Amino acid sequence: MPDREGFKGYRAWFECFRGCSGRWALTEIIYRCPRCEGLLTVQHDMERLKKTPPREWKNLFDDRMHTTVWPYGSGVWGKRELVCPVVGDEQVVSMYEGNTNLFWARRLGEEIGLEDLWLKLCGNTHTGSFKDLGMTVLVSVVNQMIHDGVEVPAVACASTGDTSAALAAYAAYAGIPAVVLLPKGKISIPQLVQPLAHGAITLSLETDFDGCMEIVQEIAERDGIYLANSMNSLRIEGQKTVGMEILQQFDWKVPDWIIIPGGNLGNVSALGKGLLDFLELGIIDRLPRIACAQAEHANPLYRSYQSGFETFEPVRAQPTLASAIQIGNPVSIDKAVDTLRRFDGIVEQASEQELADAVAQADRTGLFTCPHTGVALAVLLKLVARGLIRPEHRTVVISTAHGLKFTDFKVRYHSEQLEGIRSTRGNAPIELPADYGKVRDELFRQIERRLGAN
Ligand SMILES: *Cc1c(COP(=O)(O)O)cnc(C)c1O
Ligand SMILES: [Zn+2]
Repeated sequence: MPDREGFKGYRAWFECFRGCSGRWALTEIIYRCPRCEGLLTVQHDMERLKKTPPREWKNLFDDRMHTTVWPYGSGVWGKRELVCPVVGDEQVVSMYEGNTNLFWARRLGEEIGLEDLWLKLCGNTHTGSFKDLGMTVLVSVVNQMIHDGVEVPAVACASTGDTSAALAAYAAYAGIPAVVLLPKGKISIPQLVQPLAHGAITLSLETDFDGCMEIVQEIAERDGIYLANSMNSLRIEGQKTVGMEILQQFDWKVPDWIIIPGGNLGNVSALGKGLLDFLELGIIDRLPRIACAQAEHANPLYRSYQSGFETFEPVRAQPTLASAIQIGNPVSIDKAVDTLRRFDGIVEQASEQELADAVAQADRTGLFTCPHTGVALAVLLKLVARGLIRPEHRTVVISTAHGLKFTDFKVRYHSEQLEGIRSTRGNAPIELPADYGKVRDELFRQIERRLGAN
């Protein structure tokens, strides 16, 4: 497959993440290095990109933010030259994802002693999770390939819920058949309903995520179905814009800490890659520290961190409320370890009780977080308590999905029905007869109680 002429002469290609020789076009169907079986990475022509001075890049990105000029209103395609220069305007499949808001967590910050605490609300997007960022790039490249005459019967992924929702939506928008493999009974109803609504071929398998991942890889390898999991590094190129956007939103000032939940570990790698691109182009001159947050029930990276990343052992992931990160054998382990080494990174974990309480605490201050964000928030609390994150540190927590995707978890928490969890901040509905006096008495009792708690 000949390399496509890139947008305005910008070029990018796949190469081996571990450094074996060889380059492949982004429109080629290849997921792993043929020599070492390791993951690929997208390499951009950095010399070409460096010809534009940092100031010009910043102005260009600022000008494009929220524009309606196709496709630049997308937070991802607004950084097209650095993300994916091989897709034509007409072939871009975008829903103007990205450019999600930074939420100043003022009251939550006050409660825990931080003045400068922010949440990047990646769930405020079309399918309700950050997976849109990666999927717009991947589906656009597939759309370009089909346009160029390559035969792609369908795109497919294994998923803990959000990847399949994003793939199904973007594929539906482009008119490309989608296949999603889900672990039966392990994803939320809102997550399941998304691929169903978008007409994806939805397969519910008697296994966990890791089991689904094995099968979808085999289908991709043997049957030519295009693989849309994050081992496909096109996804990483879209997701890497999350860190870039954070910098842009802070007028290019680098925060001290970024905390991000990790499962398959594509997103922490993507976060790092975007920031390193900006460093290399001179757009920023230092890096934040990164903390990757894992659920105690699915913590292979945390265990590896304990050994200084000397060893890595996949684990059998136990059920966790943070279902999207219930992953025992993360595909992007090598990339994640590399990222954490470069960002003076740390890994911390959260128990089920800790993540549930962190969600409840955050929600009481006006947030509405998903359990994975709860894992990151619980880790935040630990790092503050340990004095690693100090009161003046500007800290950003990556909120990965919208809380409305996980209402069942919230309902059960507040009605004290989560097995093994104490609902320390539960707030169940109060049932009363329709009687003015009783309503008034109860109302004032409740107001009193809340004032007393403050
Ligand atoms: C996919 C996902 C994650 C984990 O991202 P990885 O790249 O697999 O580490 C975290 N939170 C939510 C809501 C997700 O959908
Ligand atoms: Zn290799």
